[in-house]
Amino acid sequence: MPIVRRINELDEQFKSLSDDQLRARTAAWKEEISKIPELEEQWKKLDEILPEAFAVVKNAARRLKERQHTFTVCDQPMVWDMVHFDVQLLGGIVLHKGRIAEMATGEGKTLVATLPLYLNALTGRGAHLVTVNDYLARRDAEWMGQLYTFLGLTVGCIQHDQEPDVRRQQYACDITYGTNSEFGFDYLRDNGMATTREQQVQRGYHYAIVDEVDSILIDEARTPLIISGPATISTHQYDKWKPLIEQLVRKQTMLCNRLAAEAMAKFEEGDVETAGRIMFKVKLGQPRNKQLLRMMEDPDKRRAIDKAELSFYQDTRKEELFQLKEELFFTIDEKSNEADLSEQGRIFLNPDDPNAFVLPDLISEFTEIDLDPTLSPEEKEKKKAERQQYCDAQAERIHNISQLLRAYCLFEKDVHYVVEDNKVVIVDEFTGRKMPGRRWSDGLHQAVEAKEGVQIDRETQTLATITIQNYFRLYQKLAGMTGTAETEAAEFHDIYKLDVNVIPTNKPCIRVDYNDRIYKTRREKYNAVIKEIKDCHSRGQPVLVGTVSVEASELLSRMLKREKIPHNVLNAKFHMQEAEIVARAGQRGTVTISTNMAGRGTDIKLGPGVPELGGLHVIGTERHEARRIDRQLRGRCARQGDPGSSRFYVSFEDDLMRNFGAADRMTKIMERFGLEEGQELEHRWLNKSVETAQKRVEQRNYLIRKRTLDFDDVMNMQREVVYGYRNEVIDSEEPRKLIYEVIDEAVPAKVKEYLGSDEPNYTGLLHWVNTTFPLGLTREKAQFETRSVEENAQFLLEKIKSAYERKSSHEDPTAVKSLERYIILNAIDRLWQEHLYAMDALREGVYLRGYAQKDPLIEYKTEAYEMFVELMANIKNEVLNNLFRSTSNLQAFENFLATLPQFLMREDLAAAPAGAGGSARARQPQPAGAVAAVAGDGEGAGEISIDLPVRRSMPKVGRNEPCPCGSGKKYKNCCGRVA
Ligand code: ADP
Ligand code: MG
Repeated sequence: MPIVRRINELDEQFKSLSDDQLRARTAAWKEEISKIPELEEQWKKLDEILPEAFAVVKNAARRLKERQHTFTVCDQPMVWDMVHFDVQLLGGIVLHKGRIAEMATGEGKTLVATLPLYLNALTGRGAHLVTVNDYLARRDAEWMGQLYTFLGLTVGCIQHDQEPDVRRQQYACDITYGTNSEFGFDYLRDNGMATTREQQVQRGYHYAIVDEVDSILIDEARTPLIISGPATISTHQYDKWKPLIEQLVRKQTMLCNRLAAEAMAKFEEGDVETAGRIMFKVKLGQPRNKQLLRMMEDPDKRRAIDKAELSFYQDTRKEELFQLKEELFFTIDEKSNEADLSEQGRIFLNPDDPNAFVLPDLISEFTEIDLDPTLSPEEKEKKKAERQQYCDAQAERIHNISQLLRAYCLFEKDVHYVVEDNKVVIVDEFTGRKMPGRRWSDGLHQAVEAKEGVQIDRETQTLATITIQNYFRLYQKLAGMTGTAETEAAEFHDIYKLDVNVIPTNKPCIRVDYNDRIYKTRREKYNAVIKEIKDCHSRGQPVLVGTVSVEASELLSRMLKREKIPHNVLNAKFHMQEAEIVARAGQRGTVTISTNMAGRGTDIKLGPGVPELGGLHVIGTERHEARRIDRQLRGRCARQGDPGSSRFYVSFEDDLMRNFGAADRMTKIMERFGLEEGQELEHRWLNKSVETAQKRVEQRNYLIRKRTLDFDDVMNMQREVVYGYRNEVIDSEEPRKLIYEVIDEAVPAKVKEYLGSDEPNYTGLLHWVNTTFPLGLTREKAQFETRSVEENAQFLLEKIKSAYERKSSHEDPTAVKSLERYIILNAIDRLWQEHLYAMDALREGVYLRGYAQKDPLIEYKTEAYEMFVELMANIKNEVLNNLFRSTSNLQAFENFLATLPQFLMREDLAAAPAGAGGSARARQPQPAGAVAAVAGDGEGAGEISIDLPVRRSMPKVGRNEPCPCGSGKKYKNCCGRVA
């Protein structure tokens, strides 16, 4: 490795430099590179200076170590004790080249990243390091920041609760640490919402290193980032119903506990059938009942309950099932996620009118009304409208109650969500990681908020969205590091054009990986796991137990409690606390249970005396769907040449084994061996069988992700066009040019639409012109018939532009540019949001068409394209519509109105509603005085407006940011003032 040798030679030479001389290199390189205009050329320069630059970083690390430099990281005192190893230099080179460096846990990837980050930050364009959580972003920025600041570079760190001003400062630093979702959300806010350059916080996407890259680009890629804003109207009544539902749930719990006790007695009597039937009822009423869960762990009881369930779902027993449900207050179906009140429950909630929770039969009611001879047609309509309204209110109430029931019965605090800073934060079921900023849909999130007694946020709608994949594709150069990338190398290559390089470990790895132990049932398996934990614990050897779900962790924890073995369970509550628990996991006698160790980002050092005991022992309680996750877990022990061992436990009842065919084959083998209760199988051939099943799942999951991406590519292209245009508007020094471009394109298109056919519609055109622009054209003045289509377009263009110039001359000259930008931005944002909504619906819709032998993707692409063309046309028309309806101040507007042709004032303005398109837009928040009607009567407006549901159209503006209406005041003191 000649480059590494060269770096070390230079490091040796630099020892004679003073601190200042070493530091001076940074400024000199920055200066030199800033003179190179092209990024590609800058990169070439970086390649040239790589050995020297890496040597400078390494030399700085050496100096800090020699002086035993002390500092604090996340309020903990620390001493700098690291100088880059050769393998770390190698890792740094790979990262600089825009590849993935696979380096095992504990190899010091945090330090590796300092080399390429320093080098690439020399371009002055900003280098980003992406972590899996906020805590790690802060920890690593403060820790590695020691090196950067020593060398004269600035380092920043994005945290969830930062205000835009602070974020902007962090991005302005040479190097910025932050999580993928913060980076992604900032992108969305900058490009989809900010209305001026000053409001934007990021400054380009040049180089990023993604830490735990598999975790972020593969696991997290399942959920897109979504920014949602409050929907305009909110009708929820969660607060109102909460106390009653709470009582109802309590009653049901008491009932279910009584039933469970009854069932237990029946089991003991040997009446398994009755017991199963009773427990099935408990399952209907309270699927997460503690005693039920415990019984489900016992295979005999479980079988009895499953059997009862199966028999009740037979067609012939519908009536009985209904009866069974009526004996409860409500039923909960975990699979379909539904909650239904029974008669008893309805009476409890509203003793006077149990029908208050039943939807009326509208169709027959309407028929009755229609047939009623005593009613006049008007009365009939009125009556129908009343019934409709009643039905809507009813539906809302039922929905609210069923969401509350779900919130109480299916969603557990600290398992499915945590409560932090008066907010409900979702916990990812698979990774156990918190997902701040994400919300459940359809009112469920609010129901959970009501349950927890925290502030209930309003219903939301999507304002902007992007997948993690597409965010990272924005970077000119992307690199990644992780302990496990090799198994997913094909995917990284295909989707991100990232190649994987495996870096050797600093010291040879001496971990012992035992063969899997395979059992018939889950219960036997868990018993064996507990036995092994007990065994290690009695000798003082620390154990790390990995599970694939939060539920499995809890089960194990219960079992360990029964055995009185002290242990820690990693839950998603606090990342910092989590890091401490992980760090302690290598101490003598500790037992740590964790869901999915992938991407936890803290390494486990062995405590005194532990190496002699064989180091950390890792137990996997199930093989994960992806081999990568298993390797991550194994990799937690035996870091940096430490001793360590690992073993996985598997049962035929595990999902992986049941679903992917491995079980069948193995059952045969087991039968041949005549396996008895509690006995296990163990052979390296069997490990292979399990891996085959895993490969099959990996392949399937990859195809699913690829498919998602194919769909998202369509949206991505559209987003690029729209965001590109938006930024052009924001950056434009002469927004009027852009307005005129719109006029030049949209007006001739309209003229052609009216006049282009064999039967030209002169009246229609005249109507459109007069409802969109204050030209006061009459048939005689217009004389459309005397000109060709093109000539008419030309004629109108001139008239419109001169009218616009006239209007502008009355405007406040300092505000007119902001106003013009705002007219376009407002049109883009409003319609783009509608479009996002429609695209969602389309995406769901095309899947249904899949049945008709059509490829959903092709259908989606075709229709999405058509919708996009329409969107762009609609945006232009919306701009035209608002051109003469927007003003920088009311006085100017009135002056302008006074100059309009008299008859127009009389005929059209008098009847003008608040805006074309009428009620829809009038209900949206508007900057005071910025929108008023000049022209447009009710009917005519209908022709040009886009009839869409009521949704929020204002970009989300921070309360302290300048008001988008261009007044120069803060938003909170202007249009955002709370009435
Ligand atoms: P990884 O992310 O690769 O799992 P970390 O970056 O968390 O590893 O580092 C693991 C531990 O190794 C840290 O405690 C760090 O201080 C230590 N370490 C890393 N590089 C060196 C080095 N060159 N010399 C000494 N200790 C190091
Ligand atoms: Mg790490």
